[in-house]
Amino acid sequence: MTLLTPARGKVDAVAKGVLRPRSKLAGHLEPGTQVEVMLAQGRTLDVITQAQTVATYAGIRGDLDRLGTAMYLVEVTDRLTVDHTEPAAFELLAAALERLERGDGAHLLTRTFEMDLLGETGFRPQWDVCIACGRTVEGEEVAWTPSGGGVVCSACRPRYPEAEGLAGTTLKVLRAIQRGPYDQAARIRLNPVLAAALERVMHDLVRSVAERDLGSQRFIEAVRRTASAPPESSDVASCP
Ligand SMILES: [Zn+2]
Repeated sequence: MTLLTPARGKVDAVAKGVLRPRSKLAGHLEPGTQVEVMLAQGRTLDVITQAQTVATYAGIRGDLDRLGTAMYLVEVTDRLTVDHTEPAAFELLAAALERLERGDGAHLLTRTFEMDLLGETGFRPQWDVCIACGRTVEGEEVAWTPSGGGVVCSACRPRYPEAEGLAGTTLKVLRAIQRGPYDQAARIRLNPVLAAALERVMHDLVRSVAERDLGSQRFIEAVRRTASAPPESSDVASCP
């Protein structure tokens, strides 16, 4: 199982026998719930020895739309974090799930979550100044690039053939979401067109970050773990 912890970030752990009906862990390790667990350090993976549910977010579970949003939040967290880093992700995810449960609009809470998580993981999108020259970007002639992580001014745009136009209203809301506070950003009224535009921008960003950088970072982590693990067997050479 993958656990997101406040102190150690993302941690993989084994829940032995959790599928057995009489397991004391069963029912306490549902996806997207907050639990208190006891971990025993294993050779390669920690083992969950005790689990107690802290928050089930029942208001999310009873609603298919909210459940879909919750699963998306969990998925994005998993894709944007690397094991044992970014402990702040826990607070961000817990806050987003609470907002979702109390009935806040899914669009703005999700966009806020994506924006904040990208910021926490070192991929803060740049909406104010050009990513190439640093000049303040204003007006309607704005373009942006997911791989560059922000806006480009009209002078620099030729160097970014993949850049796409960004409507002034969309940019304004992106800035407001990033600036926060959430309670203020959550009051923005979104029409379906604006909501779809914001969703596209943030999905493109998340996808770009997840595919481009974290894969290799995860790979490096995995190689490090393999390299530091003790050899499985030392008597291979003596086999006939
Ligand atoms: Zn520029």
